[in-house]
Amino acid sequence: MSEIAEHFHAVEQEIEAAKARRSVGKDESVGLIAVTKNHGVEAMREAIDAGAAIIGENRVQEAAQKKETLERNVSWHLIGHLQTNKAKQAVRLFDLIHSVDSEHLLEAVNEAAQKIHKVQDILIQVNLAKEDSKFGIYKEDLPILVQKADMMKNVHLMGLMCIAPNYEDVEECRPLFRGMREIFDRLRDFPLFSSEMKYLSMGMTHDYRIAVEEGANLVRVGTAIFGARQYK
Ligand SMILES: *Cc1c(COP(=O)(O)O)cnc(C)c1O
Repeated sequence: MSEIAEHFHAVEQEIEAAKARRSVGKDESVGLIAVTKNHGVEAMREAIDAGAAIIGENRVQEAAQKKETLERNVSWHLIGHLQTNKAKQAVRLFDLIHSVDSEHLLEAVNEAAQKIHKVQDILIQVNLAKEDSKFGIYKEDLPILVQKADMMKNVHLMGLMCIAPNYEDVEECRPLFRGMREIFDRLRDFPLFSSEMKYLSMGMTHDYRIAVEEGANLVRVGTAIFGARQYK
């Protein structure tokens, strides 16, 4: 078995163990997104052959190039920030966009999707800790954006995403993840028209176990599967 395959299975097992410890979302499965940014298609093939069904990329251009070369049938998720002027490309490439965080971007995605007769699945990114360095909307602004997305014909809102701060002590993420799950559950009780609150995307290599314990049902893991990224 390749090293990548071994790591992938180890992460899957950690997720199952964390799931067994949790009290929220016990009946939900947890999707593992293999985050392949800065890794080549050869590594991607190994992960996919080990069972990875979802690929996470954070740049439109990089994903476009890889998608041309990678002859595998997987689901493509955009997890990084999306610029409005790239919306057109993004709706052609991605099955789920995790990073919608403004009305402006929401409209751009809706318009781009409409042009190609697609209903684009999206998540709204929340900046729960209100960090200047992070994208995402504040939780106070969430109800309005949810309602806007809910009324649009060419986007299908499917949940929320967040990136926790890089705390030295990873346990500090726990209250934030718990807070996200509470917001997520509250939105589920909203009278929604076309949206469904199905996915809560949170947790990366250093904090995915805690995220799953607190109710994440999509985790985005790169380093634990592929090793450290080489930045060029
Ligand atoms: C890179 C990235 C990840 C994966 O990070 P790792 O620490 O390598 O697991 C997850 N989410 C987002 C938004 C990312 O950009």
